[in-house]
Amino acid sequence: MSSVYLDNNATTMVAPEVREAIMPLLGEEYGNPSSMHRLGGKSGLFLSQAREKIAAGLGCDSDEIIFTSCGTEGDNTAIFSALESQPEKKHIITTRIEHPAVLNVAKHYERKGYSVTYLGVDSKGHFNIDEYRAAIRPDTALISVMYANNESGVISPIEEMVDIAKEHDVLFHTDAVQAVGKIPIDLKKLPVDYLVLSGHKIHAPKGVGAMYLRRNTPFRPFMLGGHQEHGRRGGTENIPGIVGLGTAMELAVKHIDDENTRVRAMRDRLEKGLMAAIPDSIINGDTAMRLPNTLSIAFKYIEGEAMLLMLDQFGICASSGSACTSGSLEPSHVLRAMGVPFTYAHGSLRFSLSTYSTDEDIDIVLKELPPIISRLRQMSPFRRGDEGLDWVDDHDH
Ligand code: PLP
Repeated sequence: MSSVYLDNNATTMVAPEVREAIMPLLGEEYGNPSSMHRLGGKSGLFLSQAREKIAAGLGCDSDEIIFTSCGTEGDNTAIFSALESQPEKKHIITTRIEHPAVLNVAKHYERKGYSVTYLGVDSKGHFNIDEYRAAIRPDTALISVMYANNESGVISPIEEMVDIAKEHDVLFHTDAVQAVGKIPIDLKKLPVDYLVLSGHKIHAPKGVGAMYLRRNTPFRPFMLGGHQEHGRRGGTENIPGIVGLGTAMELAVKHIDDENTRVRAMRDRLEKGLMAAIPDSIINGDTAMRLPNTLSIAFKYIEGEAMLLMLDQFGICASSGSACTSGSLEPSHVLRAMGVPFTYAHGSLRFSLSTYSTDEDIDIVLKELPPIISRLRQMSPFRRGDEGLDWVDDHDH
């Protein structure tokens, strides 16, 4: 059975070109870029070439790029750096819909005595800009807002939010893990201070990421160690991963039009087809300001996990929320923040496509999912309203 992989916001397959670029680094090209011999020098060259490719893809200079191990490390580093470099400021602004890589760092600093403002969203997943503006204080050290949400795909008004932050001279970090490769990003036009990306979301392997650090932005290393990354991130560089990330970024630039035309059209066909075939279904979040590859759709009176298991029997891979929260049966914090009714939130599925998705993938989901929903609804005690089992329309559970 061939696999229909529509879970690309969780992770992506390593692109064949990326695999090919990495192979020599797992073989004869094993030098340490810090070594003073020819083998080390070649690794140093691979490192700087990859850095150039990331910088070209983002529209910045290569010395503004720091390689990391993942998106989580980048987010931690950016927040740590902003706070440690301004110890007199004790206020952070972030949002209720961030990834745990940001939310848990904010909570950590809250426990250490910081005050944190968590901006909410409306039912479409949008922030209230007046509320945002009013939250900025003289002691605000950092504003951290994700570029696009991993579950709903809703894109934040980053340009406007950065402009407001800059009017108040506040540092701005954006977690762009889900945005890079899906929508164009040009750092020449976007004065964020820190931007974070992750390799495994853009067809590079796991275990590598990068962060952009705007020139002259205060920085304190999160990983203390050697002189690597100009003393900004100690530890011998993951050269195979970094080379893979460089190639993946080149491919992302090449595929960005495809993401926004063909991939978007496939996602829209999936959305329309499912909405037409399955009654009592809703889209989570705004459908206009949304990543072209993401569909978060909710079916009333269904358990997301039951759908996932049945889809899996047809080789269809999707997600019932963010990959990181699908281990729990609680509706995700993102769906709760949007106020998705409880009876729907439980039955939410996220399909996330990539440039490797095909029309056939969409056909298979459109054929297999509607009967799965009918079957599950017939079995559902919630639908039948069995005594004591009726679900409550209360998203604060
Ligand atoms: N930020 C967002 C928005 C994500 O979706 C993810 C991964 O799901 C991360 C951060 C964490 O990235 P990584 O898995 O590379 O640590």
